[in-house]
Amino acid sequence: MHAHMCETCGIQFAPSEKPPAYCPICEDERQYVGWSGQRWTTLDAMRHKGYSNVFKAFDDELRLSSLECTPSFGIGQRALIVQTDVGNLMWECVPYLAGQPTMDKQFKRELDALGGIDAIAISHPHFYSTMIEWAQVLNVPIYLHEDDAGWLIRRDDHVVLWTDEQHDLFGGLTLHRLGGHFKGSQVLHWAEGAQGRGALFTGDTIQVAQDRDWVSFLYSYPNLIPLPASKVADMNAQVQRLEFDRIYGSWTDRNVIGDARTKVARSAQRYIAALEGHFSADEPNDDDGTGGNLTA
Ligand SMILES: [Zn+2]
Ligand SMILES: [Zn+2]
Repeated sequence: MHAHMCETCGIQFAPSEKPPAYCPICEDERQYVGWSGQRWTTLDAMRHKGYSNVFKAFDDELRLSSLECTPSFGIGQRALIVQTDVGNLMWECVPYLAGQPTMDKQFKRELDALGGIDAIAISHPHFYSTMIEWAQVLNVPIYLHEDDAGWLIRRDDHVVLWTDEQHDLFGGLTLHRLGGHFKGSQVLHWAEGAQGRGALFTGDTIQVAQDRDWVSFLYSYPNLIPLPASKVADMNAQVQRLEFDRIYGSWTDRNVIGDARTKVARSAQRYIAALEGHFSADEPNDDDGTGGNLTA
């Protein structure tokens, strides 16, 4: 029996004799089947190919570390470990995990130096990857929004499904369901982040753009499908109620540093203006900070 993993999205299925017939995550219109067809691997095979997880510290955010699978695998997202006085949370999950059923000793030493992990929360199904295996090895809960329960490809008692719009965790950490990208897409608010000015962890729910003073909102990133203007307005209104100065995105250095709440507001305004046709492609940027060629 092997717990097969999809090579394109990294999701791990329950152990089975034969590989699954297909990957529901990749068959969905928000994702895609790999160009060479559906391919499967396992954690054992990844180990033999030399994959590992690397911890990285943040110079200016002392209680935050990232965890990245190297070389990149699947979608390539990072996990972020937030340390609080009452426990640590792993936000998102990386596909590789060293050593089962007990954790690789070197990896465990590095994790213990951070104070371990007490809970996991994941923004949406594209980043579920091997979360069940992680939760089993660490024996910790995984907090997901109930609206995405249908995407639980591997079920397990460690999964905690929450309902409504907000769920308080511990140490000033709060989950908020914004929806959009997935119905249950959630973001994590860390009140103590950014020296008490607050930080938001947004996954694909609010995407940090390549120009890191801006963000965007899509139903599908690989297939470039937008969200309705009304939904983006709702998502923006919901996060404007929170205090945050930074956004930590899901890839290395994809962060909004400073005044992030204002930057979300103007990004939502630009997005809605584009969808409503306020766009003049021939004019040079007006450079007034309202969004270049778009007028609200
Ligand atoms: Zn897949
Ligand atoms: Zn996604």
